[in-house]
Amino acid sequence: MISNPRIEAATYESDIHCPSCAEARFGQALYSRDGVTDGQGEGVTLLYGSGWEASPRGECCGACHAEISKPYCPGGYEIFELEAEDFAQAEDGSWMADATRELAPDSFSNLTDCSSLAGWYWQSCQPGCLPDGDAIGPFATEEEALADLLEDF
Ligand SMILES: [Zn+2]
Repeated sequence: MISNPRIEAATYESDIHCPSCAEARFGQALYSRDGVTDGQGEGVTLLYGSGWEASPRGECCGACHAEISKPYCPGGYEIFELEAEDFAQAEDGSWMADATRELAPDSFSNLTDCSSLAGWYWQSCQPGCLPDGDAIGPFATEEEALADLLEDF
């Protein structure tokens, strides 16, 4: 018997499915050299290793809704945490300094309480991780920042 590749998912019937559902549906024929076709007459595609890329939004099985892959920060973006201190010490002219100034427009003191700015942010960045545009945030958790980033994705 040929050893099966450990698949992570399979696509058929215009949806992605977990290995358990795919094996329950097609049995070992799933791994036959000629492959199998689904109920729509389309070939079933096995997804494993570096041969596929999950959506940044994460993937769930179309049948049992099991999580196949977790949401992740897509390329061209980064997610990071900033402390109140980072804002208090922000360089003049940076978006962080601007955000601090907005907190207290009339104050030129650097003693402004920046704790309301602390938290998780996401930002688009160019190759080499140079920030591109303002960061969006703050969010209470990394998960919330990621969810906001992926909203329009
Ligand atoms: Zn499933």
